[in-house]
Amino acid sequence: MNLHQHKKALLATKAELEARLTATHRHLQGRSESVSPNFHEQIVETSNDALIQALDQEGRHELQLVLRALERLDAGHYGACVRCGKPIAEARLQALPYAECCIGCA
Ligand SMILES: [Zn+2]
Repeated sequence: MNLHQHKKALLATKAELEARLTATHRHLQGRSESVSPNFHEQIVETSNDALIQALDQEGRHELQLVLRALERLDAGHYGACVRCGKPIAEARLQALPYAECCIGCA
């Protein structure tokens, strides 16, 4: 297993998520201040908000997984399934560096 490569992928994902969360937070905070006087625009803005809120939630969830994966990496048990303890397939880790379970437990 190439730990260095997985760590690099995790850190890149972490930076990407943090940038995305900064943007969604800024948008959601700014949004509460400006309410469009135009009804149709409001509808567009509202559905946009829902989308951005979903992105925000998804991003935060993903970030948690990335942080936990980095902790496991530092603790030396990265790549082991958190349920059954068996090693997670390398191909799975490459596709999903923060995978917590092997394919059998997922
Ligand atoms: Zn497992």
